[in-house]
Parts: sequence; structure tokens; C-alpha cells
Amino acid sequence: MNVDDVEYPKKRPGQGAMTHLHDIEARFKEIAGDDDRIDVGELQRGLDLHDADYAARVFRLIDEDKSGEISLWEFIRFARVLVEGTPEEKLRIIFNLHDLNGDGTVDFEELTHILDRSLNEHSIDVPPEKVAQLGRVLFASIDTDGSGSIDFEEFQASIDAHPSLKAQMIDRSSTWLRLPERIASDRRRRGRSFRALFGGLRRAWENERPWLILLTVTGAALIWLFERGMVREAAIGSDLPTQIAQGAAEAVKLCGVLMIVSMLRHSFTLLRRFGIARILPVDRMIDYHRVVGHTLAFLALVHVVGYIVTYESLIDPDFFTRDVVYGELFRSQVGWSGVTLATILLLIWAFARESVRRSGMFEAFYLTHRLFWAFLPLLIVHVPGFAAWIAVPGAIFLMEQGHRLIRGRKPSEIDDITPMPSNVTRLRMKRPDWLDFKPGEYVQLRIPAVSKREWHPFTVTSSPDEKDCLELHVRSVGNWTRKLNELAMRDEAARAENWRRVYLEGPYGSPSSDINDCPVPVLIGAGIGVTPFASILKTVLERSKSGNPPGEDLQRLYFIWLNRDQKAFEWFGALMAALEDLPELKGRIDIRVWLTGLKAELTSASLTVAMEVYHEAAGRDLLTGLRTRTELSRPNWNTIFSEIKARHEGAPIDVFYCGPEGLSTVLSQECARFGFGYRKENF
Ligand SMILES: Cc1cc2nc3c(=O)[nH]c(=O)nc-3n(C[C@H](O)[C@H](O)[C@H](O)COP(=O)(O)OP(=O)(O)OC[C@H]3O[C@@H](n4cnc5c(N)ncnc54)[C@H](O)[C@@H]3O)c2cc1C
Repeated sequence: MNVDDVEYPKKRPGQGAMTHLHDIEARFKEIAGDDDRIDVGELQRGLDLHDADYAARVFRLIDEDKSGEISLWEFIRFARVLVEGTPEEKLRIIFNLHDLNGDGTVDFEELTHILDRSLNEHSIDVPPEKVAQLGRVLFASIDTDGSGSIDFEEFQASIDAHPSLKAQMIDRSSTWLRLPERIASDRRRRGRSFRALFGGLRRAWENERPWLILLTVTGAALIWLFERGMVREAAIGSDLPTQIAQGAAEAVKLCGVLMIVSMLRHSFTLLRRFGIARILPVDRMIDYHRVVGHTLAFLALVHVVGYIVTYESLIDPDFFTRDVVYGELFRSQVGWSGVTLATILLLIWAFARESVRRSGMFEAFYLTHRLFWAFLPLLIVHVPGFAAWIAVPGAIFLMEQGHRLIRGRKPSEIDDITPMPSNVTRLRMKRPDWLDFKPGEYVQLRIPAVSKREWHPFTVTSSPDEKDCLELHVRSVGNWTRKLNELAMRDEAARAENWRRVYLEGPYGSPSSDINDCPVPVLIGAGIGVTPFASILKTVLERSKSGNPPGEDLQRLYFIWLNRDQKAFEWFGALMAALEDLPELKGRIDIRVWLTGLKAELTSASLTVAMEVYHEAAGRDLLTGLRTRTELSRPNWNTIFSEIKARHEGAPIDVFYCGPEGLSTVLSQECARFGFGYRKENF
């Protein structure tokens, strides 16, 4: 059977419905495999459900004829409700999930059972006595007529009382079956493509003005140089390929200069402290370095091809054979230096690919990039007059490197290394006298006991006011960070003798080090992206405690913390609690917490309501113990930003984000829509 044999309800006719059907069928086949039937195990794996009991409950809801297998038709009917169903139909599914014995009501045991399974499903750790307490509070709040059981109307009323949860469930219900997200958003998107396109362009301009201006100016300068090189070559009678090759060579000179400028990290950190970030996109210097690098590689290719065409045209079997032509070339200074430059550039470019860097070959990228030290002198040899172009940026670069070398030689000492939840290692070390940093800045670190040569960047999580201590939080993601975590796990006796030795250099500026200039900063940290904000918040806390709270310029600081894993809140839980409890900061700091790792909203509805009810009763959050309630969903940025905007009418609002790239795209669009400034941290 396939979708063309299924009679699909003609509720919403048109292309969309048919596309959905094919998507649903594809999803069915993905879960079912070759036999075109889904059993419980396949459903559990397909929906990535952790709890077998829960999977069996969901299975029974879909398997209408109770045959023990889900057919394509049953799957489509269920999926259709999730995609096209009314809010009531969707709620009915959740209610039925709770109604274990199918008698049309949910009693106390059924509710606590589902709650328990739901906590297990989402790997949320709550002691059994707390689960029972949660069940009691929740049951009493839903069973409003006190009948001892919950009917559908009572259940619906309890969800209605939580509009954000309801909206989330209705909007994202297609994701319950892991159907492609576009099915859910198709309807919303239809007919808006032109508006979306123009809106997107406007947003890009508003968010990225300094960046776009920098790219435009750079592009214009390169075109001008290219043209100048061609005109000059034409004036001396060169053929077209040579003109093009020389045009490219002229533009390459500027690229070489810009490559060096984009590496002046110390200078940019200094300039950032004078507010340069408002006009120059210093946060995006790594991106700029990449763009210029690609352009340089392309221009070099044009230059090489141009000359190959020219040399090929010189070949004449009677006078200049290929061997003669190319032999002459390779023997000349311009020839051998050019060939060596092209080889080095190819190596640097090939190993700098994102796919190489992210595939555990960061070392290869790092080492080939060191060839840069040969590339620049060779460029000076190859291109007459290039030395004058790079004299100033080259001198600054050399000074920065010298400074780095001197500082990087003096070791500091690790005082404490502790494994934290969610694969994070906390490092505390003696802070060198010279390390004068601002909250939000980062340092480069080398620990010989982990790796003799590798340097890695990490944001400082302690406050600059802690004069003796420097703290970092390191998430294990690859070789180096994992080895560091292993070191933390080992007993002192099993560690290498010199394990405490650490080399530091920096500090380097980051977008979040600019928050002091903002009356309404909104800090959004996702996962380990919390680190730049930890230092900022600690500084606010320590200064407020010692009678120096933030000045009147700061209207309110918002801190939005997103984690996929409950345990991750332990990294800075004590800091958050202290901030919440300090009377001086009442109304000045607004902390909000989201646990976003819930896999299937279908299984989290009653848990979300339970958490809200518990919070109302206890005044503290069940998971974090904070006054702020943990939201078990994904943030609705429209609601959050609307509320912030309404509260600070007329004030400039700036969002600072550190976390995965995907969320950054969403946030930058939302910020442009609301007229907020947007700065993101590049990890
Ligand atoms: C400015 C900045 C601040 C950072 N702050 C923190 C922080 O506070 N806490 C934290 O846990 N992580 C932070 N990171 C990320 C951290 O540097 C990387 O996770 C770490 O270097 C990975 O090394 P690895 O060998 O374990 O992993 P790999 O598997 O080698 O790499 C994992 C990822 O990290 C990148 N990476 C690897 N080595 C380096 C390096 N030497 N320099 C830059 N990127 C590298 C790779 O491109 C890859 O995408 C920060 C990164 C930057 C750029």
C-alpha cells in the first residue's frame, strides 16, 4: 500500500495536503522498514523514546484496530490529527495517553504513573517522594470538582490555564512523530514568500550593517585594484590572459594585508574597549578572515590560470618547447616563488575547510595554517613592492606575536580541576598579574599534561574582581577537552607530575564584553554558551554585595539560560540563586531558565503543568531550586521579546547570544523584527 491508495480527507485540498501525505508516508517507511508495518520496538526507536512503557502507550493510541501492528493507514490518520487537527483533537490524544484503562477519565494512579514515566522519559532526576508530592499537587489542581477523577473537560481547562504550553502543543504537534518541521510550518508560510524575502533582506541589513558595509567596501576596493592592474598591463601591450593575471595579482596584495589585519586580536581587543564594535564588526573578524581567505585563494587561481594560458600560447615546437618555456619559468625567482606560494596556499585552503576542522582534524588545520609564516616572506619575494603594503600591519602583527610568545612562556598553576555534570570540567588556576581582563573575555590555554603544543580558547567564568583566581568551564567535545576531563577524573596520584602547569595568553575581547554600554542587555546562553555571561553575572553579584550595585544606567539585565540537560544547571546554579536572593538586585536582574531537551512534547504536557503547579505552591522550582520556574519547552521569542520591549518602551535593547548557530539565525531575525541590537559569540 502507498499514499496514492489512501483516501486522504479533502479537508484542505491542494498541493500542500498531498505533499504532507508523501512526507508522512516517507516517515512511516523510515520507521517501519521493509515489512510496511510498525511494531512497538520500531516505534520506540523511530520516535527516539527512552521509556519502553511510554512507547507502548503511544503505540496503543495509534494502533486503532489493536492488531499489534501499525499500518500506513493508521499512521496517516494519527499524523493527520497532529498536522491538521483542531486543538481539541490534539488535546484528546494527550488525554487518552493518560487514560491507561480507557474508561474516559484519569485517576490519581494513572496521573502519577504518567508523571513518573514522563520524568524517566526526559531523564529528569526527581526523588520518588517528590514525584508523589508533585502528583498530589497536580491532581488536586486539575480535579476541580473533587470527584476523585479527571474528565476531559477538567483536563482541557488545566491546559487552557497554561497558554504558552497550549500554544506550543498545538503549533509543534507534528514534531511528536518527528515529521518534518516544514509540514507544520507549511500552512503558515504559504503566500508569504515575497514578504519573507524582502523582510529577510531588510533584517540582514538592520542586523549586519557594519558587516555588510565592510564587505561592500572590501569588494569595491578589490574590483578597483583588479581593474587598475589590468589597465596597467594593457598599457604595456600585454595580452588579455596576462592582463587578467596581473589584475588578480594586484587584488591579492590587498587580500594579503587584510588577512594580517584580521589576525590582530590584541589590537581589536584594545579597540573594542574604546567602543569600536559599534562601527567596525570586530565580532566577525574570524568570518572576515575566512571570506578574505577564500577570495585570496580564488584570485590566486585566476592569476595562475592566466599565466598558464599566456605561457601555453608562447609554446612553439620549433623554437620554444614546453620544457624550455616552463624550465625558464621555474628557474626564475618569480617562477619558483610563485609555484611554492600556490602549493602552500592550496594546503592552507584545503585544510581550513569547515568539514576538516569539525571532523577531529583540527590539528591538521592548525599545522597547515602555520605555513603562513613561509607564505608572507615568499609573497614579498614574489611580488615587487608588497613589502611596503604590509609594513604597518606586519609590524603590529609581529609585535603582537612577540608579546604573545613572551607571556605564553611563563607558566601559571592549576589549583583545582573538577569534573562537573554534563561532561564539563571546571578549572581553577592562579591568575597571572598581567592578566587584566573584562567580564566576557576569553584566554588561550595550553596544559602540557594534556597536550604539549595545543592552545585552546576558553571564556573566563570568574570575575575580574577575583584577583587571585581564574576560572574556566570546559565542555568535552573532542580530543583535547576529553583528555582534560579524564585528567580531572583521575586521582591526584595517577596524574602526571607536572599536571598543574598551565600556560595562558590573552585576554581577548568578545561581544559580551561590551554589555556595560547597554541599558537593557538581554543575555542568552545556550548550553556551554553560558560561560561569557557567568563572569558578567558574577561581577554584578560581587560588586553589589560590596555596596556597588549596577548604576542607574542599567534599567534591567535579562539572563535567559537554555539547557538540554537538567544537570547542566548545576554549573552555575549557586550563582543564579545568589543573584535571585540579593535584595540590592531585586528588579534589576531577571533570570529565566529553559530546559529544552524534552524530546517529545506529547509526553511532557502533564509534566509541564505539574511543574507550574508545584512552583505556585512551593515558590521554588522543582528542578533547580531557584525562584525562577524552569520552562519545559522551547522559548517563544515573540512573547519574550514583546514583553521586554513593552517594559522598556523607547530604551535601546541589545541581545547578546552565545550558543549553537541554528538558534542564532532565529534570534537575529527576531531582534531585527523588534528593533533590538544583536551580537553573537563565535565559539
Ligand atoms: C572565543 C572562544 C571561546 C570559547 N569558550 C569556551 C568555553 O568557555 N567553554 C568551552 O567548553 N568551550 C569554549 N570554546 C570552544 C573550545 O575552544 C573548543 O570546544 C575546544 O577548543 C575543542 O577542542 P577539542 O580538541 O576538544 O575538540 P576538537 O574535536 O578538536 O574540536 C571541536 C570543535 O572545536 C574547535 N576547536 C578545536 N580546537 C580549537 C582551537 N584551538 N581554537 C579554536 N577552536 C578550536 C573545532 O573547530 C571544532 O569545531 C570557545 C571557543 C572560542 C573560539
